[in-house]
Amino acid sequence: MTSITPRRSISEQFPRVVANGGGLDVRELERLRSGARSFAEEHLRPRALEIDRRTGEDPSWFDWDLVRAGAERGMLSFLIPKPAGGGGGLSTQAAVVMEELCAACPGIALIFGAHALGVSPLLLGGPSQWDGVLSELIASQSSGEPLLMACAITEPEAGTDVEDPDLLRRARITSHARRVPGGFRLSGTKRFISNGSVARWITILMPTDPRRPAQTWTCFLVDAASEGFSVARVEHKMGQRACPAAELSFDEVFVPDERVVGREGDGAPETMIVLACSRPPVAAIATGIARGAYERVLGWLQEDRAARGLLERQHVQLALAGMEEEIHLARQLYMDAATELDHRALGGVMSHPSVRALGHVPASLRRRSPIRGWLHSERAHDATVALLHATTSERAVTRSLALSSMAKARGGDVAMRVTGAALELVGLRSAPLRAELEKLWRDAKLCQIYEGTNQLNRLEVYRGLCHSETINCLPPLRRAQLDKDGGVHTNGDVRANPDVRAHLDLDEDALAHAGVNGEGGRS
Ligand SMILES: Cc1cc2nc3c(=O)[nH]c(=O)nc-3n(C[C@H](O)[C@H](O)[C@H](O)COP(=O)(O)OP(=O)(O)OC[C@H]3O[C@@H](n4cnc5c(N)ncnc54)[C@H](O)[C@@H]3O)c2cc1C
Repeated sequence: MTSITPRRSISEQFPRVVANGGGLDVRELERLRSGARSFAEEHLRPRALEIDRRTGEDPSWFDWDLVRAGAERGMLSFLIPKPAGGGGGLSTQAAVVMEELCAACPGIALIFGAHALGVSPLLLGGPSQWDGVLSELIASQSSGEPLLMACAITEPEAGTDVEDPDLLRRARITSHARRVPGGFRLSGTKRFISNGSVARWITILMPTDPRRPAQTWTCFLVDAASEGFSVARVEHKMGQRACPAAELSFDEVFVPDERVVGREGDGAPETMIVLACSRPPVAAIATGIARGAYERVLGWLQEDRAARGLLERQHVQLALAGMEEEIHLARQLYMDAATELDHRALGGVMSHPSVRALGHVPASLRRRSPIRGWLHSERAHDATVALLHATTSERAVTRSLALSSMAKARGGDVAMRVTGAALELVGLRSAPLRAELEKLWRDAKLCQIYEGTNQLNRLEVYRGLCHSETINCLPPLRRAQLDKDGGVHTNGDVRANPDVRAHLDLDEDALAHAGVNGEGGRS
């Protein structure tokens, strides 16, 4: 009998083996994790129940002091590239931080997670985005008046359908970005947007032609202070309440051309890359919730006099071992997904000499023309897409998305099971502990819903791993970027592509000014 299971290499089966060789900095991860842990112990854990209660009574209530405390620790900028002044973290770093924060309070952690989701599309925009809102975020972080971001994809009649390019073709989209001189006018409603009522900047996806949403889905950067924008309502949530989920209304909101993120019409594949990057941290949110429940119940069993006898019972030992096992597996899944993404699927883009070289151009120089003008040009956007095609493939990104989806779906289920099992162990014995566990159980439920429901995530596992399909995850190359044979100009060396070449020529000028050599090192 022939096997239909695709043969997989060791590095495909154990992405972290490759990542270790490819620069996974374990000491740096330890440093990040211990910073996140001390922030969580000092600020999140002591306030988790109180904030859950207050936001349960009034969903609009929001604690800006916690955001300020997080901003002081760089929680709002750790995904922003280092040349733009941020921490330069990737999916792996974000996941490790989220697990720590969520073991204390997933609701508060989600404020930082939803902010990171809002930032993510800008990262795909490449260096053209470094000196705009990203630098404003960094300045606000150090000013003590931090700005938050949100990402708005879901619509009242389209949730699952806007998280997959094929489903998007048939989705009931009611929003519309209409072209006008100098930009677009956005109209419609977005629902369930985390941080939606508190964010200053929102990355939003809308079609420029509602009859062809998949082909014209486009990412825009919206200032919440714009005329025509309003918060229609803030939802009463069951869990993760500290982070408000809002319905947002857009009534002819004007967005200038320079706030189109990436290219018009590239929003569907861009969303898939954003989801591939954000699902490992979401899986880590779920893992952190499960770990928080397990640690609380174990601590109680070990320290509470009345409970200590329970540890002698075999069924309790088995329940604890089962929790430890599930949490360990959930963590391995998110680590595999994150390292596959950061070090294999998208690793080539980030370590590419042209991206590294631009990182050495001082911001003051980058902000001046002609560099600034070029970074915002159509050709520069085309070059970014060409770079993606030259350094990765549809298949690699689809596979990575499938691993991220697997981690996300399994993580959500583990969080529900472990918080449920912890509640059953405690029963009616300790009211204060029960209150904490009940909250974590409510918090866990959301992990099966947002970032694509678990059903959708498992369909992506089927497509990417069982069926070895490709999902359109890369923005298409423009006709001008294809040679006569239909291949990419680059032939594997992105510097051979005339568009990318132009990019590098500019770099080299700029580098010469800055006294930096073209290989990204100081001369
Ligand atoms: C608290 C909260 C915060 C959120 N934050 C954000 C945010 O910040 N930004 C944002 O854009 N969105 C956000 N969302 C939206 C979230 O991603 C969607 O709720 C989710 O994608 C599901 O969409 P839906 O609620 O419309 O459910 P539906 O799409 O209506 O799904 C209902 C059920 O049908 C199943 N289903 C639907 N289609 C299929 C299919 N083709 N095959 C199999 N099963 C299917 C689903 O799995 C689900 O079980 C948030 C949601 C919540 C609840």
